[in-house]
Amino acid sequence: MTWSDWKWQLQNRITNLADLEGKISLTEEERDCFAQAYEQFQFAVTPYYLARLDQNNPNCPIRKQILPRSGELVRRPNEIDDPLAEETYMPVKGVTHRYPDRAIWYISHVCAVYCRFCTRKRKVSLPEETPNRNEWEKALEYFRTQTKLREVILSGGDPLTLSDSSLDYLLGELKQIPHLNHIRIHTRHPVTMPMRLTESLNSVFSKYFPIYMVTHFNHPNEISEETKFYVMRMIKEGHISVFNQSVLLAGINDDAKILSDLNYKLISIGIKPYYLHQCDEVFGSSDFVVPMEKGIEIYRKLRGYHSGITIPSYVKDLTGGGGKVLLSPNYLQKKTEKGYLFQNYLGDEYEVGH
Ligand code: SF4
Repeated sequence: MTWSDWKWQLQNRITNLADLEGKISLTEEERDCFAQAYEQFQFAVTPYYLARLDQNNPNCPIRKQILPRSGELVRRPNEIDDPLAEETYMPVKGVTHRYPDRAIWYISHVCAVYCRFCTRKRKVSLPEETPNRNEWEKALEYFRTQTKLREVILSGGDPLTLSDSSLDYLLGELKQIPHLNHIRIHTRHPVTMPMRLTESLNSVFSKYFPIYMVTHFNHPNEISEETKFYVMRMIKEGHISVFNQSVLLAGINDDAKILSDLNYKLISIGIKPYYLHQCDEVFGSSDFVVPMEKGIEIYRKLRGYHSGITIPSYVKDLTGGGGKVLLSPNYLQKKTEKGYLFQNYLGDEYEVGH
């Protein structure tokens, strides 16, 4: 096995402080809060993604996404375990079905890299939470009975952690459900371990056209020559349509130039920028949150100044499970003591804390 083998990358992930210190030098803050942060949310990074980190830059955008910092140990009053209420709308284990026409299916709780701002850190990195084969069958049976369902979104963790044969089986079963219009896959492996996009995986994808993939690039430094090679080959061989969602992250990409560089780079390798997310109100996210006013100002500098196809929609997923609202001055309903009051697509009101 070698560097370009995704299984080697997974098996050689750095997952503890001693091994990490053998690779890079940590700041006092990073070393001090590692153990406590690890208790709440594990640490892991692939050799590939760690190699993207600039050791000489304490503000390296890759470093800030993967190394615990002191803000992660703080739980602010508005921060909760499950900000999008995904566990509330769970008819069978591993499936969130909130909207009639689409459902999210968490088929793996393992990721190549654990992002410190993860919305699902309540369960991601805990393999025992991952649905087993028996639970897959229950979920598939549920999808077969839900005739209003048009889309299933494979998510996680990272669904591409599963083997090609497991993915082949699941995609094949889903494709046989007549009321499903299409399948979507949410994955960060193209960012953290692009060698996962093997020719054999592309052959699986090509059997089930159309498949829509949503990746999660946050910064232009995450797009390497390897990313370009594997993503472009997957698009051509797997006949897959690829979109990207980014999270607006303080000190990482809260800058119009960085975002426009990212979005142009994505378009150049065949990925359409889809969403720019306001960071969710998950516990320990204070180091990452960009105030909404600043986010709107940044967004104003993107739309109009740059090609329309490079522009994602700037959205807030409402805490409590109200769905996404577009963030623009027109959508800010009212400033309150705690933050802002929004109306969702049903006219329901939600208060958002930052
Ligand atoms: S890859 Fe996605 S699910 Fe996994 S830790 Fe990062 S944000 Fe969370």
